[in-house]
Amino acid sequence: MKKVKLIKIDVDKCNGCRACEVVCSAFHAAPKYSSTNPERSRIRVLFDPLRDIYVPVLAGEYTEAECNGRDLYTIDGKVYDECAFCRASCPSRKLFKDPDSGLPLKRDMCEEEPPLPEPLCVQWCLSDALTYEEREEEGEEGDKKREMEIGLESLIKKHGAKTVMDTVARLSKDKH
Ligand code: SF4
Ligand code: SF4
Repeated sequence: MKKVKLIKIDVDKCNGCRACEVVCSAFHAAPKYSSTNPERSRIRVLFDPLRDIYVPVLAGEYTEAECNGRDLYTIDGKVYDECAFCRASCPSRKLFKDPDSGLPLKRDMCEEEPPLPEPLCVQWCLSDALTYEEREEEGEEGDKKREMEIGLESLIKKHGAKTVMDTVARLSKDKH
């Protein structure tokens, strides 16, 4: 059995306060809580106050190439931008990429030991636009190995295999 963790988003309740972005970026800062920067957040709020648009979007998978089939949504007469609801970390935009390393960001449900009762964006959303649920499903736990491979592939592409290998060797030496 695997545990499925679900953040439910009620767009009508989102008021665009961006507390979720602030706390997410603080949690993922190094050291933890040392800084805030929404660009480091795994949740971003699509934001257009004049059209009364506030849509939280959680970071999803990394993709190497931008897709050439886009969507254009109109909801309650509001037209949203192409790619607006896409969760991908994709070459066509800066969204969901770490501003320092350029590495793709993916939401991780604030997993740590001991586990948090709920992801922090949910805890900090005072208007209940975000709510959290867990359930059990048939199948294996998530593919952590593939996530690590994606991270390493991006680093190698950016810095070259030798630099990455040298850095890993230096870091493991420092730890011993
Ligand atoms: S904390 Fe909640 S209400 Fe505020 S921007 Fe995030 S999702 Fe919207
Ligand atoms: S952001 Fe998403 S929808 Fe837009 S090009 Fe990239 S993968 Fe396609």
